[in-house]
Amino acid sequence: MSTTFRRRRVPPIPPVLIVGGGVGGLTLALSLHEREIPCIVLEAATEVKQLGVGINTLPHAIGELAALGLLWALDAVAIRTRELRYLDRFGSRIWTEARGVHAGHEMPQFSIHRGRLHEVLWKAAMERLGPKAMRTGMRLVGFAQSGDSVTANFANGSSIRGSALVGADGIHSVVRGKLHPADGGIRWNGIQMWRGAVDWPAFEGGDVMIIAGDMAEKLVLYAIGPGATPGTRLTNWVVCARIGDASQPPPREDWSRAGSLEDVLPHVARFRVPWLDVEALVRATPEFWEYPMCDRDPLPFWTQGRVTLLGDAAHPMYPVGSNGASQAVLDARALAAALATKPVEAALAGYEKERLPATRELVLSNRLGGPERVVDVVSERAPDGFERLEDVIGTEELAAIARGYAQMAGFAR
Ligand SMILES: Cc1cc2nc3c(=O)[nH]c(=O)nc-3n(C[C@H](O)[C@H](O)[C@H](O)COP(=O)(O)OP(=O)(O)OC[C@H]3O[C@@H](n4cnc5c(N)ncnc54)[C@H](O)[C@@H]3O)c2cc1C
Repeated sequence: MSTTFRRRRVPPIPPVLIVGGGVGGLTLALSLHEREIPCIVLEAATEVKQLGVGINTLPHAIGELAALGLLWALDAVAIRTRELRYLDRFGSRIWTEARGVHAGHEMPQFSIHRGRLHEVLWKAAMERLGPKAMRTGMRLVGFAQSGDSVTANFANGSSIRGSALVGADGIHSVVRGKLHPADGGIRWNGIQMWRGAVDWPAFEGGDVMIIAGDMAEKLVLYAIGPGATPGTRLTNWVVCARIGDASQPPPREDWSRAGSLEDVLPHVARFRVPWLDVEALVRATPEFWEYPMCDRDPLPFWTQGRVTLLGDAAHPMYPVGSNGASQAVLDARALAAALATKPVEAALAGYEKERLPATRELVLSNRLGGPERVVDVVSERAPDGFERLEDVIGTEELAAIARGYAQMAGFAR
């Protein structure tokens, strides 16, 4: 007698729907793929372009990207930051600290063009997950949960069913808006930022990050990649100035809004850096952007059943302390690890429990200046500059501010 076995069709596991193919969403896609958990990236943009300017990523986040096999690809386009130097606006030195491997970390801190970081992640995700899992032109407009699945709805009229939905859709997150319809929205502190990058002769060895001034009037300078010639670097600059106050609505927050020389040059004139002509650097930049310094209030929860938030959608913060992209990477790795070991709803809840309190602290600390409070304190006490730093602030007080923040951001040694 012969027995024939009919193979039972096992229905495929619905994928994790990742809304937003930015730094956080792509790191999550690569991390889920590594753990053989099916997922789809659903990105609103119709075309993937190199957008943005400089960004810094801290050693613990680079360690996570290295675990995904991306260290060498990043190294080829980034700068390994050696030192961070805080100056007052007259160019006098306040505080210096070694960074990344130079501070004894196993991994470097990378100063990198946001578009190049994004390109490395996008290419890796395309190669590993394949184009069917990397969908552009998919602008999420809503979602509905039922039983063991969630259905995402898009502006183009299509719908996709998944086992979970992760809102990695940035500071204006639609997913966040649906989970928290009464959320207070974008908060502006009255500071405008102008940001640009240009090929420029390397300064101070080509791998030093400078922060000068104070929270209200700040200059940030660092190289973010090799230059057009061996002696130059793609050099990122940011000029911040208070142009309003927190009671006003912010100027339109759009990462691609062009800035003008007329607006920025009066603020540039306030800074002196001994070995760099900042005005010439700004004038030489063919195009640059303006963006208000914005964040949103920390949320009481990120997760509802099979839906959660990640990166800027969950915890947009002021760009101080190099944490925006770094924390999105850490979120992604924590969420992938949770999904690999627990049922979906428990995994999302566990991820939130791990990540919400830590990022909440950072959002709040960044409102007070984060580690950059070292320049604020000096500027408050010596607004017209100083002869001897020790008359203004002691080394211990400076160290306490810088180390306290490193502890909170999880990269202290
Ligand atoms: C164009 C752009 C330029 C930037 N430039 C800089 C910079 O120069 N310096 C800096 O410090 N930070 C910059 N940022 C922010 C920085 O990338 C983030 O703070 C950080 O990397 C965290 O990333 P994220 O993935 O959480 O969010 P983001 O990097 O903002 O990514 C969010 C993604 O979601 C997509 N998206 C938005 N809405 C929807 C929707 N409804 N449906 C589907 N997809 C959606 C967006 O197109 C984007 O790709 C920029 C962000 C963007 C989008």
